[in-house]
Amino acid sequence: MTKKRSPEPYVNSIEAPVYQSASYYFDDAEHVRTGLHELTTPAGRYGRYSNPTWLEVEDRVSRLTGAESSLLFASGMAAHFTTFVSLLKAGDEVVLPAESYRQVRNVFHTVLPKFGVVVHEISIRDPAAFLEGIQALAPRLRLVHLEMPSSPHMYLIDVARVREIVGPDVVITLDSSFSPPPNFYALRWGVDLALFSATKYLGGHGDIVSGVLSGRRDLIEQIRWYRDTTGPVADGNSAFLLRRSLYTLPLRMERINALGMTVARYLDGHPAVERVYYTGLESHPHFKLGQAYLAGHGGVITFELGLSEAATAGVVDRLKVPFMASNFGAPHTLVEQSTFFTYFEYDDEGLANIGVDRGTIRLALGYVNEADEVIEDLAGALP
Ligand code: PLP
Repeated sequence: MTKKRSPEPYVNSIEAPVYQSASYYFDDAEHVRTGLHELTTPAGRYGRYSNPTWLEVEDRVSRLTGAESSLLFASGMAAHFTTFVSLLKAGDEVVLPAESYRQVRNVFHTVLPKFGVVVHEISIRDPAAFLEGIQALAPRLRLVHLEMPSSPHMYLIDVARVREIVGPDVVITLDSSFSPPPNFYALRWGVDLALFSATKYLGGHGDIVSGVLSGRRDLIEQIRWYRDTTGPVADGNSAFLLRRSLYTLPLRMERINALGMTVARYLDGHPAVERVYYTGLESHPHFKLGQAYLAGHGGVITFELGLSEAATAGVVDRLKVPFMASNFGAPHTLVEQSTFFTYFEYDDEGLANIGVDRGTIRLALGYVNEADEVIEDLAGALP
């Protein structure tokens, strides 16, 4: 049996083939020299280092975000963790918004301090106080991590001001999972690296766990070494599903933005709803920042009923359209009662620190549902 594959009969397929291979062969010693030693000819080597389907996805994400370069990971958390481990060393001081994603908080508070990184947590609820906090620390900082909008309240940050305050040398990373392009282009505002849980809007079908990092080539190359070495990589099939999904991202975001606005307005006008957090509504505390930074406000709407946790659970239980599940950006509408679900391990003090009320509900609209059916369902469930 010959070692080499026969030439492809369908090389003219519009979509490139999906590669599921643990390694890639070299033709001869000359190919090893140019492809591996000198890097003057393209050559695959081993499945932990690269895969043609990843490369295609990374290239498309770079074009989407306006980045010099991008890297694909096994999950959003893999992208976050690898970034911070690559860029930080003992003694470095970093800022973390208090309202960051729970597992990112765990990386900053539990993992990074083990290796001597000094973490300063500052709330973003008051945007001016957040900037003042950064100003006070600026000369000591190596990295500022941002997340916007944050969950569950969709708080925003004056990203351009953060860059002005810290100057050009501090690395700014931003978790843009809730606001991918075309809603928000983080890299246009002084952010060095935009991070995405591609499990959410980028993947958009609720069928993959994946992550992407986009931004400055010099930083990406540092992080690539860590990814190559430690191996938090996606497989070819997840890369293929993400490649397919990226075609429809702008269409899905357009629909989800419209659904979000309609349902948020309905909730805002409902007498049983005490407060709605949606950046497209004037009642959102960061509405003005939303107008400056966001072209659309997405499908996640958080609201408070002013009820106990148990009474709120009764309302959520009456909803028939959404699945009770964590995630957003998936086809189906999902609902979670924040303090009973995502933050069930937090005590009162922990909840107060991140500002999440016990009667909080987070609704993540899915594009297969119509606004009317979601509104009808809410009307039946709300007291
Ligand atoms: N960032 C945000 C804002 C998230 O909501 C999540 C997951 O829920 C992550 C990062 C982590 O992404 P993944 O679940 O793909 O690891």
